[in-house]
Amino acid sequence: MNDFPLPSAAPARSAAPVAPSRGPRRALGLDEVLITGGLWGRWQRINAEAVIAHCLEWMERIGWVANFDRVAGTASGDHAGIEFVDSEVYKLMEAMAWELGRRADPSLETRFLSLVDRVAAAQDADGYLHTSFGHPGQRARYSDLEWGHELYCFGHLLQAAVARLRTGHDDVLVAVARRLADHLWLEFGPDGREAICGHAEVEVALAEFARATGDARYLELARLFIERRGHRTLRTTLFQGSDYFQDDVPVRDAEVLRGHAVRALYLSAGALDVAAETGDEQLADAVEAQYRRALDRRSYLTGGMGSHHQNEEFGDDYELPADRAYAETCAAIGSVMVAWRLLLRTGDPLYADQIERTLLNAVLVSPRDDGRAFYYANTLHQRTVTHPNADDELSERAEASMRAPWFEVSCCPTNVARTLASIAGYVATTDGAGVQLHQFVEGEVRVRLDAGELALRIETAYPHEGTVRVTVLEAPDAAVGISLRVPAWAAGATLDDGDQRTEVAPGAATVTRGFCAGEQLVLTLPLEPRVTWPHPRMDAVRGQLAVERGPLVLALEDVDLPDGVDVEHVELDAHAPPIATGDGAEVALRIRVDPDLPAVAAEDIRARLRPYKDWANRGPSTMRVWIPMAR
Ligand SMILES: [Zn+2]
Repeated sequence: MNDFPLPSAAPARSAAPVAPSRGPRRALGLDEVLITGGLWGRWQRINAEAVIAHCLEWMERIGWVANFDRVAGTASGDHAGIEFVDSEVYKLMEAMAWELGRRADPSLETRFLSLVDRVAAAQDADGYLHTSFGHPGQRARYSDLEWGHELYCFGHLLQAAVARLRTGHDDVLVAVARRLADHLWLEFGPDGREAICGHAEVEVALAEFARATGDARYLELARLFIERRGHRTLRTTLFQGSDYFQDDVPVRDAEVLRGHAVRALYLSAGALDVAAETGDEQLADAVEAQYRRALDRRSYLTGGMGSHHQNEEFGDDYELPADRAYAETCAAIGSVMVAWRLLLRTGDPLYADQIERTLLNAVLVSPRDDGRAFYYANTLHQRTVTHPNADDELSERAEASMRAPWFEVSCCPTNVARTLASIAGYVATTDGAGVQLHQFVEGEVRVRLDAGELALRIETAYPHEGTVRVTVLEAPDAAVGISLRVPAWAAGATLDDGDQRTEVAPGAATVTRGFCAGEQLVLTLPLEPRVTWPHPRMDAVRGQLAVERGPLVLALEDVDLPDGVDVEHVELDAHAPPIATGDGAEVALRIRVDPDLPAVAAEDIRARLRPYKDWANRGPSTMRVWIPMAR
């Protein structure tokens, strides 16, 4: 099978989650970007020390891991959890594999290999591997493609295997994944059934597995799944039409991201991967246009996507209510997946800006600061104080208004875990002639360019401080380019290249020359808080203002207001500019007289807004991002 041969020039191994075999730039991997501290270093550590263990403990406790033992015949009892909980085990395995690629940890490796053995033992002789279908007492394989999530689960297993391969191990998990992918090829390939899964995911996974293994059949299968969608083959229900599954219009003909947000974004990522490998510019252009429209009209200030709780769906253009924001954590991660692929394709710093906005606001808001509770939905306006789940309480509702330790549908915590474990793979790219730093992390970058090895140390307290200091540790004896992103909000940013300090426009600031060890580039980004007006067509927040500082969206919580004053009582005085304080901003607020609200004695006040991502970390609170403007 070589209709779509992978180019032989493909890098043999890149320790990054996304590694196109062709294209203008390559993502640096976990072996090339070392995050040593700062905000992302802290989250990497919390992930390693708390999030991964927390996810494993929960899935052991409620029997999701034991589902594999039941299929293998080494445990008894009924399947635990809904039919797609296998995917959570696989996402955790992906997180563990990346984490092990980042640093040696014998204890984690033991837990990982044990998990792999239990999963492997549940694989059927023909490669099929699922704990909810196809065994005695269960429904038949592929009898419910709309809702069964079988291929969705398989996709996450393949992605875990990609993480294992890319971090240097062609071992048991990879062998299991190959058998599963070969089974899929027979079952759904050119000579198999012409069908798709209700939840996109296997497409992006098969494309990456093809890249990681060099087996072009898997890419062709991903391509088939992309092309088959949009022809209304999935059965609809009263509430879920074809658009819910993105099965209403072929990907290459669609004009907008619609339906279930996570499905739409995973599908877009898969389509971009297929397009990148097959040179299908028309498909890539179509997805890029859909995503750009979603950025302009269907995403929240935080980068969150999906405004309908009903069906976890995208709303219409500009339908972005703050208080009913669904903005699922997984949709934010899906948006980062799409934006990263578009950044690799185009180099447009707009996508790096969006990745930063989304990671720092819509993703990092999810985990509690100890990494042991999570938001699933991420509202931008909490009107009432609600109380958290107990640490051992399973949350039924994805709508929980406090972070919960675990959910009956627990897609978000494991998605956070795998994203944090591989975050170094989203920091920088190379085009061979130089290196492009898209995210500002404390750490080191070491990359082999066409001219030789370039090593950089990056020191920064960003986003809490705006200085990014890049020191050359080692450079080739030739001109190379070092490029630093200048965010769109950073008017007045400066770059000191050692000779002179000059103002640099938003986009990217690139210095191309020969470098000596010890030379520095210093980027200074202004972090003055700024008032943000909503798009005039966003009716739900018309007349309201938000405050941002650098890449951080700020929020007002009642715990930062005087006793008896709630976030519903106040209006923002837009004539008094916000003043930087700590990692937030101090603003002038007027007390609103409202016959429906309790009378409040306070006069006009000043209060502190803090980063949205940290809200409710000090306990239950009311909160709002968009604040009514005082007239
Ligand atoms: Zn989720």
